[in-house]
Amino acid sequence: MSKLDSLVAATRDTLALIAREYTPAVFASSLAAEDMVLTDLILKDRLPIGIFSLETGRLHKETLAMLDRVKEHYGYDIALYRPQQDAVEGYIAQNGLNAFYDSVDMRRECCRIRKVEPLGRALAGNKAWITGQRRAQSNTRNTLAVHEDDPAHLMDKFNPLADWLEADVWDYLRANDVPVNALHAQGFPSIGCEPCTRAIEPGEDVRAGRWWWENPESKECGLHVVDGKLIRIKSVAA
Ligand code: SF4
Repeated sequence: MSKLDSLVAATRDTLALIAREYTPAVFASSLAAEDMVLTDLILKDRLPIGIFSLETGRLHKETLAMLDRVKEHYGYDIALYRPQQDAVEGYIAQNGLNAFYDSVDMRRECCRIRKVEPLGRALAGNKAWITGQRRAQSNTRNTLAVHEDDPAHLMDKFNPLADWLEADVWDYLRANDVPVNALHAQGFPSIGCEPCTRAIEPGEDVRAGRWWWENPESKECGLHVVDGKLIRIKSVAA
């Protein structure tokens, strides 16, 4: 069995376990490469796992186009969770549209409004959630486990691709003719909101383009944070 076959088998086992023992469960997709691997596996295996995305209002048009491409390819509508409009308007009125460039606190507050609060609504009522995070993605993810507790949301959290390398992801996507976000071909290995994500140079850390003006240690959005600490320092995205 090839390395990729082993990884796929282990990942399918993890997803089947979630479907069997953690229903209702949901998968948080950023519509980037890793998340398309999981989307493909979940939908091909017809697993009872809902797929949703956080539509922050600041996504690239290429990312939004993925919603239609998933619909065309799989006949599946990804559920969208949007920020509370009054919170967004309040932040902009008080701080400006792009205040996230001013400080880590301002950036985290924007992420809280546009990502963390909608995530809470998306996860409510579920037993587990799933992410496409990989251990090799950055120094904020190097202790990531496949299965962990999420005390912030009082549920189990699964990262079925924790052991995968970037090459494994692309080998899978090509072998299975999975639709991918057009931004990847433009130098974006990691995809988030448009104003907070830039293309990277060859050899740079794959998450170097996320919040590129900050120190590496602060580069998570709060989706995976508890009490102000990264869960992965036991274990944000998107
Ligand atoms: S990634 Fe940037 S635009 Fe998106 S929610 Fe966070 S700070 Fe706001």
